[in-house]
Amino acid sequence: MKKSILITGGAGFIGSHVVKLFVEKYPEYRIVNLDCLTYAGNLENLKEIEGADNYHFEKVNILDEASLVEVFEKHSITDVIHLAAESHVDRSITDPLAFVKTNIIGTVNLLNTAKSFWRNYEDHLFYHISTDEVYGSLDEGGFFLETTPYDPQSPYSASKASSDHFVRAYANTYKMRTVITNCSNNYGPNQFPEKLIPLCIHNIKNNKPLPVYGKGENIRDWLYVVDHARAIDLVFHEGKKGETYNIGGFNEWKNIDIVRLLCKKMDEKLGREPGTSEKLITFVKDRAGHDLRYAIDATKIQKELGWEPSLQFEEGISKTIDWYLENEEWLKNVTSGAYQQYYSEHYHNR
Ligand code: NAD
Repeated sequence: MKKSILITGGAGFIGSHVVKLFVEKYPEYRIVNLDCLTYAGNLENLKEIEGADNYHFEKVNILDEASLVEVFEKHSITDVIHLAAESHVDRSITDPLAFVKTNIIGTVNLLNTAKSFWRNYEDHLFYHISTDEVYGSLDEGGFFLETTPYDPQSPYSASKASSDHFVRAYANTYKMRTVITNCSNNYGPNQFPEKLIPLCIHNIKNNKPLPVYGKGENIRDWLYVVDHARAIDLVFHEGKKGETYNIGGFNEWKNIDIVRLLCKKMDEKLGREPGTSEKLITFVKDRAGHDLRYAIDATKIQKELGWEPSLQFEEGISKTIDWYLENEEWLKNVTSGAYQQYYSEHYHNR
């Protein structure tokens, strides 16, 4: 059976890298990018593959069940890689219900559509992309393993934990073939500049304050987005069905150290006196319920599937800064809402 893969959230940060990788690497597959183009998604992220024969775009909201059924029928969908989500913790604190709707109900809609459309579940895969935040917060020591009990602490992570549970429940109850990966923080090109790294790059460039929560002591593990996309490719093709894999960079950083690293590199790249950008650092009131530390143990995917990150952090950060500096127009258009306006005029929801 020819593969026709539905990738949801393909116009977003991680999804756009996954779509590009699959379209370019697998010309024999039909790749269908389904995305409703929220503020975080825009097709500019995919302009390199826009005209490819094996690429199709559907502007659909995963809350719209009837349109999901139409898309499955129109493209004879054989597999799903599900990334569409509300993804920003701060937004989940101000509007939790939006996260319940897209992340939980949207995921269940997709599961239901796949469940009714597919005949023999052995032939199909439902792959859910999730986060390490479902495991909660760590103190100084230890790592998240695939067996770590879920303990989500924010409305965002609670919604992702719930969607993971639904995916497992569908595997158990209806015998659908599923796989879940839980990944640490991603960075790289195409990320909406509300998240730490692109926000700092944007603000340093424009001499604006660099807001750092609390004392900047919170620790995250960081992975270059293209390495996440490579891991998704590997798990999609070689992962054991019903399994969970953690994906991470073994690359822990305190937020304040990342901000300082960005300041140092940006001073070099912009030809500024050393120390100039650090003066922009501004400590702000901590995020409510801010998890102290996330750290992924990615041994299972390394040992079982032979995956490992291809880029060292400083190299990845340097590439990322270069990308944002070379794509000022992109940054301007996503922050002003110009792309969102353009695409809502050119694509109508079904
Ligand atoms: P993003 O916010 O950049 O992109 C999300 C995409 O989903 C956007 O294109 C948006 O338009 C689309 N979308 C949102 N709601 C939709 C809906 N109701 N219907 C259809 N499309 C919708 O997110 P991201 O950072 O690329 O994250 C992608 C996935 O990976 C998410 O599931 C997220 O939980 C997970 N994840 C992200 C990270 C990270 O560091 N960014 C880490 C681990 C896991």
